[in-house]
Amino acid sequence: MTGNNNIRIGTLFGIPFFVNPSWFLILGLVTWTYGNDLAQDFPTLLPGVPLVLGLVTGLLLFASVVAHELGHSWVAIKQGIPVRSITLFLFGGVASIEKEPTTPGNAFWVSIAGPLVSFLLCGLLVVFNSFVSLPAPLMAIVTVLAIINFSLGVFNLIPGLPLDGGNILKAIVWKITGNPYQGVKIASWTGQAFGVLAILSGLIPLLNGNPSRFWNILVGWFLIQNARSAGQLARVQSRLDGLDGWLVIDAVSEHSPIVSADASLRDFVELRTLHPGNWRKFLVVDAASKLVGEVTVDVLQSIPSELWASKQVGEVLKPIEPATVIEAGSSLIAAIEQLEQYQLSELTVIQADGLLVGLVEKVSIINLIQQRSNVISV
Ligand SMILES: [Zn+2]
Repeated sequence: MTGNNNIRIGTLFGIPFFVNPSWFLILGLVTWTYGNDLAQDFPTLLPGVPLVLGLVTGLLLFASVVAHELGHSWVAIKQGIPVRSITLFLFGGVASIEKEPTTPGNAFWVSIAGPLVSFLLCGLLVVFNSFVSLPAPLMAIVTVLAIINFSLGVFNLIPGLPLDGGNILKAIVWKITGNPYQGVKIASWTGQAFGVLAILSGLIPLLNGNPSRFWNILVGWFLIQNARSAGQLARVQSRLDGLDGWLVIDAVSEHSPIVSADASLRDFVELRTLHPGNWRKFLVVDAASKLVGEVTVDVLQSIPSELWASKQVGEVLKPIEPATVIEAGSSLIAAIEQLEQYQLSELTVIQADGLLVGLVEKVSIINLIQQRSNVISV
């Protein structure tokens, strides 16, 4: 959701902390807007001071967002779920957790923790303002921060994915129906519906010549995109559940491309021509059928054909990336996760002792899922 060009700032309580480059744009905008507001409200401030106070407000605003994300993170960690990262981006913050909570109750508490932190901070700031007498401009900043934290809590409670309210709705439906995917499905619908409302709330004034709600259009667009992809992911996952108990070995391609290390390149060319699949890459095994590397067809272009008879495949092979290898006894779900994580189209399957079994392709797993999904209710 936040792309790969995030900048790592450091760690917060052991959690890697990133900001998306778009965040600097928002910080600049907030600094300028609040700076101008303060300059107008407090004309006695020295030149430059309102802008510095605007920057402080902007940074505190994002500290509020981080506190909100830390709320989610803290509850997740309490449940034994590691937090991968906290990232600030254009539309706020996101805490990325290693896996979904296992019960609807746990999912509920992880989701509501963020808004609770925001409301708590709002309360503390209000109390602070009424007991401590600060100079008027600083008091104005504390008030603004209290309003921001309150709005953060309320906005995130809108009951549609990807917002916290959507996750809370998901947990409630999960609790009632016993099916987590049913929860995602409904929260994905409501998320898209709120996205449409947000777009309309910005678009209608815009068509009447008032662009002040343009931001709503962007937020709505963001909601629709993310709500929809959450729904799609849930559909895939619910089908995957039907693959429970299936192993990688069940999906290994019948005609996996395998060549022996002591075969000549001429033999390799012949083998490839006769092979049923149109593979660009072959797995290389030694005399004991152990996986020793891979060879691509491209290698032939760099070697003159008169040398093909005398050169062995073993001399031109490349080592195998560990990330592309999986054990035959692993679950098919683990294979899919590995394919997704490294953006691969196939995995090399070996036995625990390193003997090569063959290849498992993403397409054949998808075919299996499609066959199975006729029997599984989604
Ligand atoms: Zn949240």
